[in-house]
Formats: sequence, structure tokens, C-alpha cells
Amino acid sequence: MQLNNQTYQIQGVNVLDIADEFGLPLYVYDANKIIEKIGALRDAFPGVNLKIKYAAKALTNVSILKLMRLQGIDIEVVSVNEARLALLAGFEPAQIMFTPSGNSWPEIQEALEMGLQLNADSLPLLELIGQMYGNKYPVALRINPSITEGGNLKIQTGHGNSKFGIPNDYRAEIKGIVEKYGIPLVGLHIHTGSDFKDGNTFLKIADVLFDLATDYPNLRFIDFGSGFKVAYRPGDHFTDLTDLGKKVSAAFRSFCDRYGRELELCFEPGKLLVSESGHLLTEVNVVKKNPTRTFAQVNSGLNHLIRPMMYDAYHHILNVSNPTGEEHLYDVVGYICETDTFATDRMLPEVRTGDVLSFENAGAYGFSMSSNYNSRPRPAEVLVYEGKPHLIRQRETFEDLLRGQEIIELETTVLNKIER
Ligand SMILES: *Cc1c(COP(=O)(O)O)cnc(C)c1O
Repeated sequence: MQLNNQTYQIQGVNVLDIADEFGLPLYVYDANKIIEKIGALRDAFPGVNLKIKYAAKALTNVSILKLMRLQGIDIEVVSVNEARLALLAGFEPAQIMFTPSGNSWPEIQEALEMGLQLNADSLPLLELIGQMYGNKYPVALRINPSITEGGNLKIQTGHGNSKFGIPNDYRAEIKGIVEKYGIPLVGLHIHTGSDFKDGNTFLKIADVLFDLATDYPNLRFIDFGSGFKVAYRPGDHFTDLTDLGKKVSAAFRSFCDRYGRELELCFEPGKLLVSESGHLLTEVNVVKKNPTRTFAQVNSGLNHLIRPMMYDAYHHILNVSNPTGEEHLYDVVGYICETDTFATDRMLPEVRTGDVLSFENAGAYGFSMSSNYNSRPRPAEVLVYEGKPHLIRQRETFEDLLRGQEIIELETTVLNKIER
């Protein structure tokens, strides 16, 4: 979103016009930002066989998935339903990597019948695949490297006490099962979490993967997961892709030399590709004061964007309808009947009832983590593509909240008996 002549624009379209056309609250995504991020990641890894697998859970709208496919990237899913969305977006089953974390066996079997690339996350699962499919189904393994990284405890997945992956300490057990059944092991994977503070973590992951890879001569790919940090606030630290690309590519090339074959170097970015592209547009319902604070209360809340309350995440806020107003301090809060704070002591151009506030970096884990809490419908989603806003998901209605509910007959006499 850019400020041109005192109006915020996305690809030259006035954001207030988008708000008028589609109503608020509204998720708006800029396709160009997504394309730009994919390009930047590619450019950072010259001279290696790079494969990008978009982590669909960050933002699962089928039109977004389709945009990803048209950029020539693959996809990573964590449920069979995400895989179904990917198929609807036109991905081939072989382009879809399925990384369960404790999913049920029937769900995993469905994934295998669909022909997805399985990334097994436990020894019992690996054993079961061996028993059921013998040497027929190629699998990858998610390894837990016992490395603590990630922006906060809730998004750290690679430490020794986390539920994720197969602990690297079980190297012998892994090999035992693979050899017992002749399971074709085609990939090794580590995803240690989101928002790495230190880009060198990828090099530590590389060491673990390269070492383990020497046990398996027929690998096709090594997957470094994700963890790319994006800048949420002005001046925020973010992953330097060029620097990372240089270091990891060099390590990877020398590994491939030792291994004796060119392998694919995979990443699974979610946040990196979609965070910046997304804006949650809201309308200010009321500006109210108490003796010490001024609250700007918007027509949205943790039901639509849970990151501030769940992860203490900072989201930059723009007053789209009053960009040049005099600045004051506000607590920006939602309409949910529960503490529902987007920002405390935030300097914003004067906020008035009816103003449009935009929560920036809302593309990743925004809509995809939204809910109907307080019986609120979820917002519509709009994709700005080639200079035009397109509705890619309708706003929910009251009927959507009722769908599936069975309103049963209740015998009032029973209630009366209890009362007496
Ligand atoms: C969530 C997830 C990702 C994406 O993480 P980001 O921080 O959004 O890039 C990648 N791989 C796996 C297995 C995940 O669960």
C-alpha cells in the first residue's frame, strides 16, 4: 500500500474505493507483492536447483494458490483438505507435499491415495507405511534437529521438547525401519519454526540434514522448511535473502559434490510470500476516552486477526482515510467481548468515527486463522491483480453461521420438572 497524493493505493487503485465497493471489514491482497517475493527468493539462490513450496496454511484461498502455481512453485500442505484446495488450484498431486503432525491414519491414507508426496513425522507412521506399502511408496522424513529457533515459544517447532518431527537422535531406528521394508526415502526435511532471529540457523539445519543424508543414497531433495522473518514494523529486522542465499547455496553445492548428485534444495515459505501482500481494512465504530487513554474501536477483532492477541504480534496500522491528520496516541481495539487489543499507545493520524484503518502484514495467518467468535461472519477477501480488485471470497452472512446447525425440539415439561 503506497501513499500517492495523500491517498493510499494498491497497484494504483485507491484503497478507499476498494473499501466502498466491497464493504468492511475486508481482507485485500496485492498479487504483485506475492510475485515480487517469489522472485526475490529465486534470485537469492542462483546456481542451485531451488524448489519453492508455498506453505498453504498461511493463506489458503484457492485464487491465491492458483497465483502461486502460475508462478511455477510447488505447495506444502498439512491436511488433506488443504491438498484438495491445492488440487482445485490446479496443482498436480506430485507437486503437493503433505506434512502431517500427528494426523490420523485414515487421513494419511487418503493423502497417499491422492498421490501426494508424504513427509512422515513419526517413527510409528514410518513403520506403518512400511507395513502397508513396503517398498512402493516414496517418502520424505521430517526430522527434529533439537535446535531452538523462532520468534516466540508458540512458533518454535524444532527444539528437543517439541512434538514435531522424528528426533535426530533416532537415526539408527530410522535406518532400521527404512531398511527393513526397503522404503524409498526421497527427501529429508526440517522446519524449525517461524520468524528466525538468526539466519544462520539454516546453516545449522544444513549440517544436520547433510550428515543424515549420507545414510541414504537415493534422495531427490533436501528441504529446509521455513522460518524467514519479515519486517512487521518500520525498521524491523528481516531475513536477508541475498546473504542467506549465498551461504546456503555454497554449503549445498559442496554437499551435492560430496553426495555425488545434484539434489533439489527446497524451502517452504508461508509468511515470506503472503504476509506483506495482505491488508485487513476495518472501519472505526467509535472513538472513546477514559481518563488516561483514547480507544479507537474498529469493526473487527481477534476473530479476524488473532496474531496480536495470540503471539503479541505487532501489526503496523495506517489511517487510510486521514493520512495527514495530526498525530495522537491510541489504543486500537476490536469489538469482541473479551480483551481484544490490536495495538497499545500507537501514534496515528487523528482517528475519527468512520475512518478506515488498515492492519498491515495481514496476509499470513490472518484470514486462515479467523473464526466466528461472538457470532461474527468472516470478512470478504479481495485480490488486486493486474490493476483490478477481484472478489475472491464472499463475506459470510448470518446464514453461514446457522449452516449445519440442527435446532432440536426440547420438551419443556422436562425443564419444568428440573426446576421443581
Ligand atoms: C507453517 C509451516 C511453514 C511455513 O512457515 P512460515 O513461517 O509461515 O514461513 C513451513 N513448513 C511447515 C511444515 C509448516 O508447518
